[in-house]
Amino acid sequence: MANIAFIGLGNMGGPMAANLVKAGHKVTGFDLVEASREAAKAKGVSIVHHAADAVKTAEIVITMLPAGKHVLSVWKEVMPVVGKNTLMIDCSTIDVESARHAHGQAALAKLPSVDAPVSGGTGGATNATLTFMCGGEEAAFAAAKPILEAMGKKIVHCGGAGAGQAAKICNNMILGISMIAVCEGFTLGEKLGLSHQALFDVASTSSGQCWSLTTYCPVPGPVPTSPANNEYKPGFAAALMLKDLRLAQEAAKSSGATTPLGGHAESIYEAFEKEGHGGTDFSGIIHYLRMMAKT
Ligand code: NAD
Repeated sequence: MANIAFIGLGNMGGPMAANLVKAGHKVTGFDLVEASREAAKAKGVSIVHHAADAVKTAEIVITMLPAGKHVLSVWKEVMPVVGKNTLMIDCSTIDVESARHAHGQAALAKLPSVDAPVSGGTGGATNATLTFMCGGEEAAFAAAKPILEAMGKKIVHCGGAGAGQAAKICNNMILGISMIAVCEGFTLGEKLGLSHQALFDVASTSSGQCWSLTTYCPVPGPVPTSPANNEYKPGFAAALMLKDLRLAQEAAKSSGATTPLGGHAESIYEAFEKEGHGGTDFSGIIHYLRMMAKT
């Protein structure tokens, strides 16, 4: 069993660290927020008061932080303190450029590193059923895999440095666009007098079929487990979808890709957030479309 430092014990990091403890690892954690530190402590994580103190004896360092700037600053802070050959893993969702920069920092210090963003939300983090999308050298991935398996059920090696982040934002751009497309289908159906169930029964077995429709249906009824049946509580909050769509647009700009629908999806989620709905599940974008139709 390994000695693991876990930095960033929020909604995702807290339960992920708890699952590492459950798997028998010795986990030392740090977060800026006291409530997060206390919650992790209750789950068996040893708490310290500085990131550098968490990593001193760690064989593996995991970060789960809000954005690229936090990851780069924490990695910079701990890098001089970590032991030789410590494996650096970042599970946050961040921009590809920062992920590559973090790998570069690790390489300069001769440390193996993996970018390993996740999909599966807080439910997946709690139940250890996350999907990890990994980027980094083969040997670093092989070392990270058994650790990630304690927190997830599918671990995919997507390629070299930053490939995990690249896969994550491409996937979530598809998701953001497809959710809006499904919502548009339902709002048009409503205007045409079609019942939600009738449209679902046809589209879910026809060429309109997709995850946003069959697993996460944005109207109450057809898929009882979708957030639409729970007052659009997240789930996956619209603010997080907007974050990922922004990352995708940044990556499209810097790489020269053409992603007009991704850009349009970003502006629609931006307007939804400005209306105060950042905390609503991202499938709640259907309300925004209905509201636009009335004006
Ligand atoms: P969160 O805000 O709940 O947790 C982030 C934690 O990092 C906070 O507790 C914060 O105090 C801590 N933090 C920030 N700077 C720090 C520092 N310098 N040192 C130590 N701690 C610091 O966010 P979350 O929902 O846990 O998300 C974490 C990451 O996972 C994000 O990149 C997010 O995009 C990604 N993600 C989230 C979900 C989700 O459903 N919540 C799903 C997939 C991916």
